[in-house]
Amino acid sequence: MSGFGVYVHVPFCSSLCPYCDFAVVVGRADMHERYCDALIDEARAQRDIPEATSLFIGGGTPTALAPALLRDLIEQLRAVLPLADGAEVTVEANPESVTAAGLREAATAGVNRVSIGAQSFAPHVLRALGRTHSVEQAANAVTAARSAGIGNVSLDLIYGSPGETMEEWTTSLRRALEEGPDHISAYALTIEAATPFGKAVARGAMDEPDQDDLAAKYELACEILADAGYRHYEISNWARPSVESRHNLLYWTQGEYVGLGIGAHSHRDGRRWWNTRALGRYLADPTDARDGEERLTEIQRAEEWVSLRMRLMDGVDMGEAGERLGRDLRGVAADCEAAGLAVLDGDMLLLTTRGMLLENEVTLRLLASSPLALDMVEC
Ligand code: SF4
Repeated sequence: MSGFGVYVHVPFCSSLCPYCDFAVVVGRADMHERYCDALIDEARAQRDIPEATSLFIGGGTPTALAPALLRDLIEQLRAVLPLADGAEVTVEANPESVTAAGLREAATAGVNRVSIGAQSFAPHVLRALGRTHSVEQAANAVTAARSAGIGNVSLDLIYGSPGETMEEWTTSLRRALEEGPDHISAYALTIEAATPFGKAVARGAMDEPDQDDLAAKYELACEILADAGYRHYEISNWARPSVESRHNLLYWTQGEYVGLGIGAHSHRDGRRWWNTRALGRYLADPTDARDGEERLTEIQRAEEWVSLRMRLMDGVDMGEAGERLGRDLRGVAADCEAAGLAVLDGDMLLLTTRGMLLENEVTLRLLASSPLALDMVEC
């Protein structure tokens, strides 16, 4: 995968979902315009940026911005950081803040893909997740995207939420399919320590998601989405032919990208760096918002290459992986096959459904005898 990505973080949300670990600012409509100005200042300060093949406006909730402000932001970004012809331009949207008129403005600025945070089509699961939108609003958001002429619509789903039954997850998947999305992401609920859910688990007020339940729901998603004709191209992502997320594929193939806004990460020339999550510091000087940096050693890059590629359903070339890691992986690959975690197709090692559930284990087996040399440089 070649190309260059630009990620732009819009942190504003109407409320904080209790599982959320992103850089989020609740409310603060008074800051929207100033924050967008800061993003443009940060974009202008970038040096030697190649033409971008993807622009991803994520969050947070980009559609929390007023439609004219969002359009203006995208147009200004495109003036400062030019896009290649046919670039993928995605906006993340939460159903409660989507309108057909708003998405038409976004489409005018070149948005050709929208990723809608539907999360569930079961009302009580939405409530358990702290979502403020209804099932109907999620369906209406898809209709709004279509009527705005946005040809590539993705739905995000979460499984394993508190109280979610297998029947409800089945209904959510089928209901999502009724909307005819081009792309579906389905992620297991993960509990991060610093979130309200994480704190509830720590004090014993809430259970961690049950691993057997998560596995059964994942297998069900694989089955239902394959039956509906979606190609499973990454562990948690399915797409109709040719509409895989080009921006996310950059992340999974160790591609290069620059991130703008609070908490945004960048990767160029073997270095990764990330911005402060503090809104005040960012607004004070968005051209000096870097909070940390790491330079990957050669072995780290090789290990990361293997672990990221392992997430892709196209598999990993064991010859190339072995060369990068400096050792012969054929024995380990055969072990993974014998354990039912993967199959070997020539030199390509491809995960089975069981292997997808235990992808970490497959990766660890492949990396087991490879030394991990961290070379962290804090800015
Ligand atoms: S809408 Fe998304 S970004 Fe905002 S708080 Fe909820 S999970 Fe986090």
